[in-house]
Amino acid sequence: MQGTAAILREPNQPFSIETVQFDPPRAGEVLIRIRAVGICHTDMVFASGAMGSPFPLILGHEGAGVVEAVGEGVTKVRPGQKVLLTFNSCGRCSQCHSGDPAYCQEFVALNFACVRADGSSCAHDDTGQVSARFFGQSSFASHAIADERNVVALPDEADLASLAPLGCGIQTGVGAVLRSLKAQAGSNLVVLGAGAVGLSAVLGGKIAGCSKIIMIEPQEARRQLALELGADHAIDPATGDTAEQVRAILPQGANNVVDTSGNVGAISAALGMLAPHGALGLVGVPGSLDAALPLPIVPAITYGYTIKGIIEGDSDPDTFLPELIALHAAGKLPIERFSTIYPFDQINQAIADSHSGKCVKVILELPA
Ligand SMILES: [Zn+2]
Ligand SMILES: [Zn+2]
Repeated sequence: MQGTAAILREPNQPFSIETVQFDPPRAGEVLIRIRAVGICHTDMVFASGAMGSPFPLILGHEGAGVVEAVGEGVTKVRPGQKVLLTFNSCGRCSQCHSGDPAYCQEFVALNFACVRADGSSCAHDDTGQVSARFFGQSSFASHAIADERNVVALPDEADLASLAPLGCGIQTGVGAVLRSLKAQAGSNLVVLGAGAVGLSAVLGGKIAGCSKIIMIEPQEARRQLALELGADHAIDPATGDTAEQVRAILPQGANNVVDTSGNVGAISAALGMLAPHGALGLVGVPGSLDAALPLPIVPAITYGYTIKGIIEGDSDPDTFLPELIALHAAGKLPIERFSTIYPFDQINQAIADSHSGKCVKVILELPA
């Protein structure tokens, strides 16, 4: 079947909108007509070529659309149904069996290899195979072929353009607070970085009932946005030692810290703001694969710190995404406040505007 996709032929080149052929879905797969897709930081990491992805490549992993066809054995969704796409998992390993698919033992192969386990893709053009299994979806395209496991049904009235980023960025930020750190009502929260994930962590802190939420963010406009979304204080890291500034507000220290910056200096400083039994969640991916944190061991032992790596907010999409959809419907996840919608064919401009800080979360909308 013919469709269009934003294809990346080489690392760090502009995306080009081209015609591609999509195969019919195989057993266990779902063909989705994509109507909206968010752009997430991880797309740009893979676009840089740093992860060794096979080019030509279709990225995109916050897809939302309508099911067009299902492969043999698929029972979770049916043609005509609106769906959200999310990260993929195997459904067979011990992590998946215990409801912890974000730490699936096959996570890297299923989400980052960009092809199926047998090396095949589901998209082709005149030059041959186009890699189209990024996060089990590659949704910068008119169509995506996902596995049954990484689609979640939406209510008929769902607004696909609003909800698309729930599948990665939003569930990561909200989940980091609610599921990974399990922030308690009355505890406090410090968030590093006011991108879409960090702002979602602020919203997660409000939902958890955190008593005080502090944002640390260098850009003035984003600090303001964090305050409007529920942060009680917003600190500019350029104005001095961030741990000292946090302790001026929270003399006992921070119970929960979520880093979305991936900045080693900022994370090191955050170690100095933890309260006894404080937990630091690492969400932001640093620019280098061998980035490392100098951990002062004696304070970590003395005060019982927890340092926790977090992927996808420890989400189990089949249960957590419906919770987030309900929270959005109840007005508790106003993600439209930091989302900007672009037509799909303006993908390169949208990426430039997100790099320049002009917008926070970019969502590409495709024609019906
Ligand atoms: Zn698994
Ligand atoms: Zn993502």
